[in-house]
Amino acid sequence: MGGCVIQKLGLALRAAIEATTLETISTGNYDAIVVGAGAAGGLAALLLVEAGAKVLVLDAGHRPALSERPFRRLAAEVVSRAANARVLADLPPPIVNLGLKALKILGRIRQPIQSKCFAWALDPLALVDDRDCPYTVEAGSKFDWFRARQIGGRMTVAGHGCQYNRLQARDFGWTPQARSPWPFPAQDLEPWYDLVEDRLNLQGGPTDPPPEHEREIQERLRRRWPGMTTFSGSFAPPLNALEMAADTARLSCRQGAVVREIDVDANGRVSGVQWSDQQSGRVERATAKVVFLCASALESTRILMLSKNADGATGIGSGSGALGHFLMDHLVVSGEGSGPPTGQERSTYDHRRNIYIPQFDPAPDAAATGDRFSMQIYSRPAANGASRFSAVSFAEMSPRHDSHVRLDPNQTDAWGIPVLRIAAGYSQGELMGAARQSAAIAEVAETLDVKLERLVSSPPPPGSAMHECGTARMGTTPSSSVLDPDNQCWDAQGLYVTDGSAFPAQGLANPTLTIMALTARACAHAISAHLELGPSTVAELEEQPLAAYASAGG
Ligand SMILES: Cc1cc2nc3c(=O)[nH]c(=O)nc-3n(C[C@H](O)[C@H](O)[C@H](O)COP(=O)(O)OP(=O)(O)OC[C@H]3O[C@@H](n4cnc5c(N)ncnc54)[C@H](O)[C@@H]3O)c2cc1C
Repeated sequence: MGGCVIQKLGLALRAAIEATTLETISTGNYDAIVVGAGAAGGLAALLLVEAGAKVLVLDAGHRPALSERPFRRLAAEVVSRAANARVLADLPPPIVNLGLKALKILGRIRQPIQSKCFAWALDPLALVDDRDCPYTVEAGSKFDWFRARQIGGRMTVAGHGCQYNRLQARDFGWTPQARSPWPFPAQDLEPWYDLVEDRLNLQGGPTDPPPEHEREIQERLRRRWPGMTTFSGSFAPPLNALEMAADTARLSCRQGAVVREIDVDANGRVSGVQWSDQQSGRVERATAKVVFLCASALESTRILMLSKNADGATGIGSGSGALGHFLMDHLVVSGEGSGPPTGQERSTYDHRRNIYIPQFDPAPDAAATGDRFSMQIYSRPAANGASRFSAVSFAEMSPRHDSHVRLDPNQTDAWGIPVLRIAAGYSQGELMGAARQSAAIAEVAETLDVKLERLVSSPPPPGSAMHECGTARMGTTPSSSVLDPDNQCWDAQGLYVTDGSAFPAQGLANPTLTIMALTARACAHAISAHLELGPSTVAELEEQPLAAYASAGG
């Protein structure tokens, strides 16, 4: 992975992008428009074209040409070359640290937020220009919003973890007493997880026989914490969904389309999308009876806030009182150090491998108190014959009404679109939980004879896990949620929002697999509820997997 994503686009996708001019869009007759070409949007486009729909993808991503932004392009090139692991391996650590600090200072000029991301130096242009795409935070709040505007979204940022884990049944909290239930039980999502896992061609996972040293680690952990569930984490390279979608010749794709508003007709049905051309700033528009809004959790929320309902009031879903509220991100706590030899070949060991603990229960009453977290443990063969240990732990942030985003009345982005103003913070209870996460990592390290060199004792600001979610939540009533149980806006039939904004609660797993499973489920719903596909296409549809999974999901 890494390098310039655009260079890696397949020929079919490149042709689809080049053929998509404003003229083809204005004369185009699309069944569906997909906003955003990340994990959610790419999959939506693929499943919809496979079902026979004609789809337009609008993505804000556009890499500046050297002539457009010479300083930014050159600076990014220097940074990513200097951060190259092969170059760094041959330099003494003090020089590396000094060099990286100097590069961060350079990066802060245009990317004061993005340069805080651990993956920034690998490819600075993959993350947004904070001066063009700003946001503000309420006094007393902190939030780091890491964003990518490119085909593939954040999934194709060099340094992406490539980890795909399911939510566990307990994460759904689906009991009548649950404080924030999902609007359906865990088993409803199972066939959709299956579909996405097949498409991703996952490696690792609960049935994977781990290498010897990982098996030993799992045994030691289970001896220390009897009853603990451990298995190999699931990983995969990013899905080249849009490239596959382009192969069907039913895909059009417009890059540099900064979507600003969704159109809804007087009957409360979605009718199209408006965007600003990234370079000319001109506002353009396309129509379709189905729209998938997949611009990432906070960006999709911003677009809903900027859009008008059937009655002309601004903010699709705002009548629920939930739009923009219940913002969550995982509390992320990590540690690293060096451990005993693994007996594995360094050159052939897959660095995405890890041991996954879906729920670490440090105390006997952890489940009852909600004091729970997940953990990924990496033990990789290192150059000196020893091993490199790292552990990352995620804990849930409660969905709170006062953790929110709203439109900033005083600031706009480079295209004149109002930006988000974010208010978020951890509760005292969450911070105490983070201290227990940190202590658990220290105890895991001790159990595995690891000498810790770095241990986070309090979590970085919300947003740092890059798992932000919750601000257009699904639910069972339009008076308490923005989306219905099929990810469709209560206020705009045919408008589906399937990124992390839909999550009513976060659970302990990293979110992308769940985002994709929700997207697949919503695609099946949109096809049956809104798209009148011709008889030959229906025959095709019956033969393709989406229909089978839809009937399995019942
Ligand atoms: C370094 C890193 C490592 C990560 N590792 C993991 C991991 O191991 N496992 C995991 O589950 N998650 C991981 N994540 C988080 C994961 O990438 C996100 O959960 C996932 O990408 C969300 O998918 P999405 O489609 O909702 O949004 P995104 O991937 O952010 O995609 C949004 C898309 O919308 C487009 N867009 C944005 N605004 C607009 C607009 N106004 N108009 C039109 N288009 C727009 C963007 O160009 C982009 O293509 C990681 C994130 C990062 C940055």
